[in-house]
Amino acid sequence: MIEDRVLIAGAGPVGLVAAAQLVKQGIAVTVLEAGNELGSESRASTFHPPTLDMLHELGVADDLIAEGLKAPKLQYRSKKDGVIAQFDFGEIADKTGHPYRVQSEQFKLTRLLLAKLRDESLFRIEFGARVEDVQQDDDGVRVSVRGNDAQSVRTGKWLIGADGARSEVRRALGVEFEGFTWPERFLVLSTPFDFDAAIPDLVSVNYVADPDCWQFLLRIPGMWRVMFPVPQEVSDEAATSPEFGQAMLSRVVAGGRFHIAHTTLYRVHQRVAKQFRVGRSFLVGDAAHINNPLGGMGMNGGIHDSVNLTARLADVHHGMAHDSDLDRYDLQRRLVTLESVQTQTIQNKRDLEAKDEADQAAFRERLRGIAADPEARKTYLQRVSMITSLKRAGELG
Ligand SMILES: Cc1cc2nc3c(=O)[nH]c(=O)nc-3n(C[C@H](O)[C@H](O)[C@H](O)COP(=O)(O)OP(=O)(O)OC[C@H]3O[C@@H](n4cnc5c(N)ncnc54)[C@H](O)[C@@H]3O)c2cc1C
Repeated sequence: MIEDRVLIAGAGPVGLVAAAQLVKQGIAVTVLEAGNELGSESRASTFHPPTLDMLHELGVADDLIAEGLKAPKLQYRSKKDGVIAQFDFGEIADKTGHPYRVQSEQFKLTRLLLAKLRDESLFRIEFGARVEDVQQDDDGVRVSVRGNDAQSVRTGKWLIGADGARSEVRRALGVEFEGFTWPERFLVLSTPFDFDAAIPDLVSVNYVADPDCWQFLLRIPGMWRVMFPVPQEVSDEAATSPEFGQAMLSRVVAGGRFHIAHTTLYRVHQRVAKQFRVGRSFLVGDAAHINNPLGGMGMNGGIHDSVNLTARLADVHHGMAHDSDLDRYDLQRRLVTLESVQTQTIQNKRDLEAKDEADQAAFRERLRGIAADPEARKTYLQRVSMITSLKRAGELG
């Protein structure tokens, strides 16, 4: 007997947005989360304008904004030339209800969503429940779950795999995760150091091009997060040592003494699942695609997946659309991920690390040209805030 619910593997930001969307549309969900509680790692902290519009519809945007900080401006610098260009999201206030980025850690969103969902009768969540296998037929999905050293089965009409980059759902469905891994790792250091006092005209989001070692400075509440590439020859142990952290931060402000509150080192990949739909199962978020964090598009793109997919699932569930409409999720979101998210994040990295003077000059000229032209600025702001990719998805098939 198949239960009339949607199963969701993973209670990250993408899985819980899917759950909230479905419950809002009167559909029962069970979220199966491998961990014993919600994740609390320091990961994504950028919410783009259209994502905030979507979260507003779920009633959590105001609290998320209150717990984070608004970043209306975006700046590009180069180590050699200082500020190259600055953009203000206020220029696209006619395209979004939230003309700014919000810097707020992703764990704040998952806590807000869970608090909102907890008392809903259509919502169930099981912690310590790792999805290990998936079987499906025309009637529904059977998922094998490991918890407390015992295996059991949950059933549902549909399955959403939101179980992250190492997705068991993706593996069980036999879907390839095509792409590559960058040779360098990325180091993220959080520090309360007062960069504003040391660097004139800094805004809350600053990309600094440097052929030797690019930097990304992002203000979050009470802290700065600074990101650098770490060359292959430096061991993980050396890269996470306090001395290495001090040396990297001294590249930003020479001679500074930095309190390092948090250090994260991670491998960076550009991969997209070959299919986002297999029968009654779907991949969303990091289970479907991963990319480098320059542009802040990973979690945002994942939330856009969830909103696209759940709107279609709700229509099918309520008899307002045929099952074949769900193929459009695969078509739209996979193509947009390949065309837009992967392309832009790779380009962002190449621009910041460009070694060749001609490439550096081309990057500077491109940005200055956009910044000097009001129409080009608006087009650019819509692209970096992912409004363009959402529009493009809507136009596809
Ligand atoms: C340092 C860093 C900075 C980043 N910055 C940004 C940013 O600024 N903007 C941005 O958009 N993105 C950013 N990202 C990417 C972002 O963190 C991810 O895209 C986002 O977490 C994806 O959400 P998700 O819900 O798909 O997956 P996850 O957040 O990975 O959640 C998956 C959940 O599934 C659970 N799970 C795993 N396996 C199973 C299983 N078999 N069964 C059941 N549950 C399972 C996990 O415990 C977890 O709770 C960053 C990433 C890193 C590492």
